Amino acid sequence: MLNLSVLLEDAARETPDRHAVVFGDMRLSYSFIDQVANQVANLLVSRGIKPGDKIAISSPNLPYFPMIYFGALKAGAVVVPLNVLLKQREIAYHLTDSEAKAYFCFQGTPELPLGETGWAGFAEVPTCEHFFLLPTGLDVTESPIEGAELFWAAIGDQPKTFETVVTKPEDTAVVLYTSGTTGQPKGAELTHSNLLTNTMVADTLFERSPDDVFLVTLPLFHIFGQTCVMNVGFYRRATLVLMPRFEPKGAIQLMVKEKVTQFAGVPTMWWALLTDETSPEDVAAIRENLRVAVSGGAALPMEVLKGIKDKFGVDILEGYGLSETSPVCSFNRPDRPTKPGSIGLPVWGVEMKLIDPHSEDEWKTIEGEGPGEIAVRGPNVMKGYYKRPEATAWAIKDGWFRTGDIARRDEDGYYYIIDRSKDMIIRGGYNVYPREIEEVLMTHPQVSLAAVVGVPHDSHGEEIKAYVIRTPGATITEEELIAWSKEQLANYKYPRIVEFRDELPMTATGKILKRELR
Ligand code: AMP
Repeated sequence: MLNLSVLLEDAARETPDRHAVVFGDMRLSYSFIDQVANQVANLLVSRGIKPGDKIAISSPNLPYFPMIYFGALKAGAVVVPLNVLLKQREIAYHLTDSEAKAYFCFQGTPELPLGETGWAGFAEVPTCEHFFLLPTGLDVTESPIEGAELFWAAIGDQPKTFETVVTKPEDTAVVLYTSGTTGQPKGAELTHSNLLTNTMVADTLFERSPDDVFLVTLPLFHIFGQTCVMNVGFYRRATLVLMPRFEPKGAIQLMVKEKVTQFAGVPTMWWALLTDETSPEDVAAIRENLRVAVSGGAALPMEVLKGIKDKFGVDILEGYGLSETSPVCSFNRPDRPTKPGSIGLPVWGVEMKLIDPHSEDEWKTIEGEGPGEIAVRGPNVMKGYYKRPEATAWAIKDGWFRTGDIARRDEDGYYYIIDRSKDMIIRGGYNVYPREIEEVLMTHPQVSLAAVVGVPHDSHGEEIKAYVIRTPGATITEEELIAWSKEQLANYKYPRIVEFRDELPMTATGKILKRELR
């Protein structure tokens, strides 16, 4: 049996009483989560859902997420996790494109009324037949949205056992929407085998401890949180401390209170933990328990890596991956020396190579150092983009998937991301990679965080602009920072425009939203 739900079922059978998730004062055991997942599966079957049907879910990191994710999988259905920040029009697009038959949507909060938005999006899509509202409070007995069915009432009478549907390894388990390199969001079809193998590989990369406690603030609707945190956590029967919205103070409190042993985050989360004014007692408490620190999803600035080592005494291990690759492709593996600034070596079973997207044959392999575009082949590569044969044929050839990321490779085979090809700035005919400039800016003592983008320019085509968050109390001016950069970087590379900001726009995952800055 290769149904991905085996991750939960094994844990529920072998360690039924262990806490699977902690949310506020709520501590839910593996057996409880499994029982609710069984009720979800029974509910879906009772409503006519068949294996292969799509089930969409909009939920932040709450106990609902694993209950519905694994419940749908048990029924042989395909999970379509949606970003909780989507607006009505986008929700309708995703429900339509994925052909979802049922939609589970969190009620939300007065500031973020997700339930209302979801209900309105659902109403636009006649092919989506069922809507289940996930209420904010457990004691809600009447639906706050007229006509919307309440989750707890819907599963109330359903049996707590379920015979899991046997799936084939190549059956799709999850359709994950991603913008890819261009255009409208496309659904990456990830199979049971893609996700199971990548979960097991990821598990080998992070040191285990018998009482693993993970802080879970990477959104579970994104592949990084889903595989590397939730699925690895369930595989090794860890306790998952859920934090729906990241902010450094809250994260630090939870790390101390729950004795967190492992934290995986995107670089902006690590940056926020680094720049937080944490009390010495809290730092000491975190140092005592935190053993595994992981970063991925975007480039980790060297200054953050060094700062976290000083502050919390852990080495952040950096890895690399994408939604289309389940996600883990490479990692600073524990069995090999770690190279700071590198995304490490390909993980077990995964091949990586560099190709030349500008050559006549776009797939031409580049030997040696590169740079080139990373292509990946292995058991983690998606089946394709759902209902988009052309996009799939463009992205995958002979099993190789092209990532759109430009990297170089050292003599030991370690890869170093230079930048995403789509973020590259072309200024006066020169290729400029923002990441290099960001790294340099962040070595300035008065610069805390920097994001560099290209903005339209009449004669150069594009001009280099830096958005900068200064360190507290900093007085540096735009002219001074530009003058300083000019001494550090070649003439065609230093930023000509600097704008100071108090914060930078981020995706729900916590990656800096360069599109918006541009
Ligand atoms: P997503 O599909 O949302 O997971 O985004 C995948 C993209 O994140 C990749 O194509 C890379 O551009 C970026 N990414 C992931 N990990 C890293 C990393 N360690 N360093 C730089 N970029 C990364």
